[in-house]
Amino acid sequence: MPRIAILPEHLANRIAAGEVIQRPASAVKELIENSLDAGATSVAVQIRDGGTSFLQVADNGSGMDEEDAILSFQRHATSKITSDQDLEAIVTFGFRGEALASMASVARVTLLTRRAEDAAGVVVRIDGGGEPKVSHEARDVGTTVTVQNLFFNVPARKKFLKSHATEFRHVHEVLVRAALGHPERSFSFSSDGEVIFRLAPGTVADRVRDLFGERQLGSLLELEETLGPITLRGFVGKPSFGQRNRSAQYLFLNRRPIQSRSISYAVQKAYEHLLQEAMFPFFVLFLEIDPHRVDVNVHPSKLEAKFEDEPSVYRFINAAVRRSLSSLDHIPSLTASGTGDTVALAFTRRQHEWTDTSVGGVLNVDRATGEILQGAEVAGRLLAGAGPLDGETPSGTMAPVWQLHRRYLLTPIEQGLLVADQHVVHERILYEQIVRRMAGGERVSQQLLFPLTLELPADDLSLLREMEQVLVRMGFDFKFFGGNTVVVEGLPPEAAGANQERILEDVLALYRDFSVQTASERVDTVAKSLACRSAVKSGDVLSETEMRRLIADLAACSMPYACPHGRPVVLRISLEELDRRFSRR
Ligand code: ADP
Ligand code: MG
Repeated sequence: MPRIAILPEHLANRIAAGEVIQRPASAVKELIENSLDAGATSVAVQIRDGGTSFLQVADNGSGMDEEDAILSFQRHATSKITSDQDLEAIVTFGFRGEALASMASVARVTLLTRRAEDAAGVVVRIDGGGEPKVSHEARDVGTTVTVQNLFFNVPARKKFLKSHATEFRHVHEVLVRAALGHPERSFSFSSDGEVIFRLAPGTVADRVRDLFGERQLGSLLELEETLGPITLRGFVGKPSFGQRNRSAQYLFLNRRPIQSRSISYAVQKAYEHLLQEAMFPFFVLFLEIDPHRVDVNVHPSKLEAKFEDEPSVYRFINAAVRRSLSSLDHIPSLTASGTGDTVALAFTRRQHEWTDTSVGGVLNVDRATGEILQGAEVAGRLLAGAGPLDGETPSGTMAPVWQLHRRYLLTPIEQGLLVADQHVVHERILYEQIVRRMAGGERVSQQLLFPLTLELPADDLSLLREMEQVLVRMGFDFKFFGGNTVVVEGLPPEAAGANQERILEDVLALYRDFSVQTASERVDTVAKSLACRSAVKSGDVLSETEMRRLIADLAACSMPYACPHGRPVVLRISLEELDRRFSRR
């Protein structure tokens, strides 16, 4: 066994480089962060060959004097933290003091920098971890770092680089994230002599438009929510503009681009039932949290973060996005462009995994914690201008409700017409009611005046035994007698309007259908089955009071836009749309 020896500095740097600098894009990321930390208002990035042969970041930040310029290449050389306390609350992008040292150990790096108070700029050049060579050159205030031939002295690393096109895409992604995170600063990016973008300072919306286009901006909902020390602001995509993959999801924690499975999932979950299968929401979200409550030092390239109270961050984000999605404007509406039907179809037809935990998360919320406002708020928005819909209110002040072909309900709303599918509406209402009741641990059963005696086939009987607990919790009351006989003595209140003699068997049959198609939870699947079998059907004649009740109850649902199976519940036809169709404008 050889004696223990401390690694020489250049070797330690090269090892650190393995973590910090994986490819040209990571070098660009570190350099941009340095520019931002130096207070630059303008950052210019140029690359060649995907950054493998040449990459350069120039800024108009503070610059450095000669001493600092030389020091900056030393490992653990940083001007950003000096004490333990500083590490507890990081407010700069860099702090580990290893980016420049790492780069210089695996490439040919040139730094040109000048402060306002110095007459000339200083040039520091380091080749693959050698001694720094210092000279002087003219420059405006700011810093330019050039990195050439990345990994020229680490062939094993170099082999792992992908094609120039792929490396370009990674660099581009870094630029997009930095530019989104700092819309108040200008960025330019060119590759192989071609300008990819030049971004003028502006708002987040301007930046989104400049990077992704006007159409993309138009497909977004703006949101801003604060809960105690946490603020979330930014844009989330309307559900009808789902993306085919997750790449268009931009998350910033205190302006630092981060990746967080948990937060992305919190956002994704808010779209449940609203997005087609295998579609993902676009979002640009800025999370601001007191830096004492997060640790960004959990990953060498600082892409991940640990939150002090991750579950409440999750809940907050989920609720904020849900609330924003429950605004009226994205209820599917018919538009003249011919996309109207696609919008309606954007509701997925798949069987949803609407588990009781996901509903419980929304329905059992405490108003004080800032979680979603239920019912009243949604109702207000959904039915704005419709007039009271409660059957109890004296008529004359009420908006009319019509039934169309015993299947659809029509009612005027502010600026348009609401069309609802009566079966689907009722199904949604009952489903939420059942899940809420069960999540609250409440068991309600309505006793039958005349118990029903059923003779069940053996497979139903065994399914019934298997499901006994869930069904009983839901409000079914039944006993097994000898043989195939089951006596039903009570039913859940939702089954009041259903065909009571058949409901248990219907629910079992539907449960069987659903459960082969989905991986969702049993309780959820039974709730869906019960809701579906108990809801009014297409073809049922409804009284005016019943129709009003349905629409008012729907408005109080937490997710009024899609039935438990994902079918659309309501469509909105705007006055504007009608005007267009009648050539009024
Ligand atoms: P860190 O950013 O973690 O401090 P780096 O190795 O990236 O470590 O940079 C080392 C130091 O060099 C920084 O702390 C900063 O003082 C200085 N520096 C690096 N880049 C710039 C720049 N573009 N403008 C001004 N100072 C810089
Ligand atoms: Mg840095």
